[in-house]
Amino acid sequence: MQAAIPILMYHQIDVPPPSGTPLRGLIVSPSAFKRQMRILRFLGYQGLSLGDLLPYLEGKKSGKVVGLTFDDGYLNNLTNALPVLLSEGFTATCYAVSSMIGGYNDWDAEKGIARKELMDVGAWREWIHSGMEIGSHTRHHKDLTTLDSNAAIGEISGAKNELEDCFGVKIAHFCYPYGRYTLRDRELVNEVGYSTATTTHRGRVHPNMDRLLLPRAMVAQATQPWQFLLKILTAYEDRRR
Ligand SMILES: [Zn+2]
Repeated sequence: MQAAIPILMYHQIDVPPPSGTPLRGLIVSPSAFKRQMRILRFLGYQGLSLGDLLPYLEGKKSGKVVGLTFDDGYLNNLTNALPVLLSEGFTATCYAVSSMIGGYNDWDAEKGIARKELMDVGAWREWIHSGMEIGSHTRHHKDLTTLDSNAAIGEISGAKNELEDCFGVKIAHFCYPYGRYTLRDRELVNEVGYSTATTTHRGRVHPNMDRLLLPRAMVAQATQPWQFLLKILTAYEDRRR
C-alpha cells in the first residue's frame, strides 16, 4: 500500500525582507529551496504537481513521491523556483488568483504584507509550457466562509472558467484561500468538477483521505533541513497540536 504522501506548501521563493516584516516567514530563500529539492532527489523522491500526483493519491500508482504546491502565483515562483524544478526533473502546481493575473497580492495589503508582483499571462504561459501546472485559487482570494452561495460559486467556478479560457488547459486542482472553507464550499468544488483541493490543515495524505480536503506540510523560512526531512520521512506533520 502507498505510504503517506506529503504535499509541500510554498508561497514565495525570494530573498527574505528585513526582520519584523509581517508574514516574512512565508518567504523561502532561493538557496534553501534549492537545498530542499536536492534533499528530495537525494532521498529518491520525485516532486510532482497535483495532476501528476493524482494516480498516487488514488492508489493507482505507488512510489516515493511528494506533492509540490505554490500558493497565489508569485512571479518569483517563475524566476526562482522554476529553474530548480526543471534541473531536478520535478513538476509542481501553482495556484492562480484568476482576476489578479499580472497584478499584486493586494488581498494581503491590510495586514501590512509587502506588495509583490504576481505572474502575468506571459509568465503563466512560460510556467505551463515548461511542464508545470496551473491550479485555481479563486477569482479574488476571498475567505469563502464569509460569502453567500452565489458569491462562492462565482469564486470557485468563475476562476476555473477564466483560467481555462485564458490558457486553454483544463483546471482540475483547487486551493482554498487562507485554507478557509465550509462543507458547502467543498461541495461546490466537487460540483464544479475539480479533482483535488488543498487546505492548510497540517499533515501528510493517508490512503482514503478526502481528495477535496487535502492536508499539506508548510515549508517556511524557518524550516531547517532536519525539519524538512522530518516532514517528508516521518509522522512529524501528522501529529495534532
Ligand atoms: Zn493564498
